[in-house]
Amino acid sequence: MRKVVKFGGSSLASAEQFKKVGDIIRADKERRFVVPSAPGKRDADDTKVTDMLYACYDLAEQGSDFKAQLQAIKERYQEIIDGLELKLSLEDEFKTIEKNFKQKAGSDYAASRGEYLNGLIMAEYLGFEFVDAAQVVLFSDDGEFDAELTNKKLQDRLEHVEFAVIPGFYGAYGDGRVKTFSRGGSDITGSLVARAVKANVYENWTDTSGFLIADPRIIYKPEGIETITYKELRELAYMGAQVFHEDAIFPVRRAGIPINIRNTNAPQDNGTWIVESTCQKSKYVITGIAGKKGFCAVNIDKDMMNSEIGFGRKVLQAFEENGISFEHVPSGIDTMTVFVHQDEFMHKEQQVVSAIHRLADPDHIEIEGDFALIAVVGRGMKSTRGTAGRIFSALAHANVNVKMIDQGSSELNIIIGVSNADFEGAIKAIYDIFVRIQI
Ligand code: ASP
Repeated sequence: MRKVVKFGGSSLASAEQFKKVGDIIRADKERRFVVPSAPGKRDADDTKVTDMLYACYDLAEQGSDFKAQLQAIKERYQEIIDGLELKLSLEDEFKTIEKNFKQKAGSDYAASRGEYLNGLIMAEYLGFEFVDAAQVVLFSDDGEFDAELTNKKLQDRLEHVEFAVIPGFYGAYGDGRVKTFSRGGSDITGSLVARAVKANVYENWTDTSGFLIADPRIIYKPEGIETITYKELRELAYMGAQVFHEDAIFPVRRAGIPINIRNTNAPQDNGTWIVESTCQKSKYVITGIAGKKGFCAVNIDKDMMNSEIGFGRKVLQAFEENGISFEHVPSGIDTMTVFVHQDEFMHKEQQVVSAIHRLADPDHIEIEGDFALIAVVGRGMKSTRGTAGRIFSALAHANVNVKMIDQGSSELNIIIGVSNADFEGAIKAIYDIFVRIQI
């Protein structure tokens, strides 16, 4: 049995947090592979070390003096080392970093030092072997992540290692130059390590006890989600729910390894399990609600559209020609609507409209802005009658006008379009009907 445990920045922001992490790891011998982030914020006004590194490197690149900024970063680490009473010295590491900054080693190199240094401290603190991610997480020359080569390298390197720390967020090109994933990318590293060592579980430790059914900025103290499938999570993440890096799902999903999102500050909580499939019913018919504001609906009418072969393709071509991706395309007999992101579409709307006229010759086009889309997601909807009915009667009671409804045939989600102004009210009404008032 082996577990891969990834700890986010807030879990490693101070010596006090490091101690909690140490206790968690020592409490379970199966927690053998540890993936740390860089130190995050100690409180709301603090700055993440990753952001400090980017800012410091910006100065270096401009040829300005960056000593004070680098010193502030050094102090963040020293505070952790002292708090843990370690003998480790990062003096030489900082000399190398300073030299490389002067030689303009790149902002990816700069940012990666956050995880690298935290990994060194973590390895020393736990007595685990340190494995530099630059040697085992690899990118091809065009900047694409090389999943298969990485898997092989990680497998070879970790095969005979019992306990290791592998810093998150970065890897390297074949020539050794460091490259990072996008922000929050330590989640991806954890997932890659889990796949390579064939872990039983990938534990992702953060500062919340897993996912919540709805956004706590909209719903007061929403309930947590116990179990969610990869597919459900993908639907919610796509609609803006954020806790876990989206690209981190694929490596473990392929290998069938469940992910357990846990809270470093409340290790007794079970957190959320992300699984491939489950026969466990979720507590409620719905698993989660997420949504986003700022969409635009482009309504296209044409008599006899239903019998015109290729009409939809021509309309979508107009969007493609202008480099605009579409989100949803609900359609009727003589109408079709294309939902797009307003900020992307705004500047190109007239080009798109004329392209639709040229390519598809519609009778009429109307654009309506300030839409919000809400996804109500739940594997339980498939086997429960009346879910849509409950959603829409709740929305009617809350005086929310529904402008669009889209239910995929998977019956995993229902997408609802409302005006931006109704967004929060709609989410509250849906949450209440399924979670607070159970019938
Ligand atoms: N430290 C990086 C960031 O702030 C990566 C991570 O934490 O996952 O984005």
